[in-house]
Amino acid sequence: MDFRDAPQEAEFRSRLRAWLAETAGRFPTSGDDYWARQGEWHRALYAAGFFGLSWPKEFGGHELPPVYDVIVDEELALAGAPPRPSLGYLVHGLGRHGGKELQQRFLPGMIDGTQRWCQGFSEPGAGSDLASLRTTATRDGDHYVVHGHKIWTSYSDVADWCLLLARTDPAAPRHKGISAFVIAMDQPGVQQRPLAMISGVTREFGQVFFDGATVPADQMVGEPGDGWKLAMTVVGHEREPSTLGYAARYGKLVRQLAARLDGPAPAELVWAAVHTEMLRLHVRRRLSEQLDGVVHGPDGSLDKLLMTWVDQSVGHAALAVGGTDDTELLGSYLYSRAQSVMGGTSQIQKNIIAARILGLGV
Ligand SMILES: Cc1cc2nc3c(=O)[nH]c(=O)nc-3n(C[C@H](O)[C@H](O)[C@H](O)COP(=O)(O)OP(=O)(O)OC[C@H]3O[C@@H](n4cnc5c(N)ncnc54)[C@H](O)[C@@H]3O)c2cc1C
Repeated sequence: MDFRDAPQEAEFRSRLRAWLAETAGRFPTSGDDYWARQGEWHRALYAAGFFGLSWPKEFGGHELPPVYDVIVDEELALAGAPPRPSLGYLVHGLGRHGGKELQQRFLPGMIDGTQRWCQGFSEPGAGSDLASLRTTATRDGDHYVVHGHKIWTSYSDVADWCLLLARTDPAAPRHKGISAFVIAMDQPGVQQRPLAMISGVTREFGQVFFDGATVPADQMVGEPGDGWKLAMTVVGHEREPSTLGYAARYGKLVRQLAARLDGPAPAELVWAAVHTEMLRLHVRRRLSEQLDGVVHGPDGSLDKLLMTWVDQSVGHAALAVGGTDDTELLGSYLYSRAQSVMGGTSQIQKNIIAARILGLGV
């Protein structure tokens, strides 16, 4: 297989590289400063034609093959630019389950970054066992009234809109009584409180309290009871190979760590180098499968598990090289701990692999 750029890809890459040489240095890449300006970074990438590449043109995308997203990830890492904002899972959720009207109303602003979004799925008692969620949405005329408590809601402090899962039919079996909504965050019945992370970041996510918040009935995504199907689409895409484009970023950190050494490399760094290269090749293979029309199902759980191993292996290498005095490297290590939790824990990925790929216990 030839992984070199085709002529159009090479032209795209050099245009992007030139733009990044001018722009990348202006944006912070980590910590609260990154989160504070993430929206601005998103809009800058979009305006320059480097965001929303594989999404439909009618919603502001470019309808390019997913390999272009990987080129962007590679070049961002190479230029030391901030990562590409990840919201593909929300685009797919609304794109697949929302009616035309909702898509036309919400997807363009989501893609071009003029409207910010968050994902209101997890609750204090409903993370891995999402179907046990207790937030309710009760019909009242042409609105639903929402009560409940969401937690670990990324970007809740800046979000204009939330893709919310709420129980609309308490009498139905638990997976079937859940519906999805697009709810406005800026209203009296919604309160957002930030959550500080162990890495020191305070602006990435929060918990959201709904106390009599309202959402028009026509902002339900799909039909009543369709929420679980949407949730499965969203979490499936959170684990897909395009998010694995972070392979480039891990590779860059490994090279930076190696450059700091003045003696033999610690075993952690050697492992991280091997893992990172393995992930890079795996991403290439997944992409070429996608280009051949292969649709990945539960395999996304293998990808997510692999990415977690690599992320945490690179985190351990950062700690081994930088110790606890280097706050940036310590931050990389601490953030890598979250990888085995976000988007579904590693144990849950293993359960899915066991049941749906290996056919164990079924
Ligand atoms: C950085 C980050 C960002 C996030 N962003 C969002 C977001 O934007 N929106 C959102 O809705 N959520 C978000 N989450 C929440 C995330 O989806 C949940 O944390 C995750 O699904 C796990 O749920 P939990 O934290 O309730 O843990 P629990 O489900 O309580 O799990 C606790 C432990 O028990 C294990 N466990 C649970 N059930 C099983 C089982 N059946 N078999 C084996 N082991 C099991 C788990 O693996 C874990 O080790 C985010 C989380 C992180 C870390």
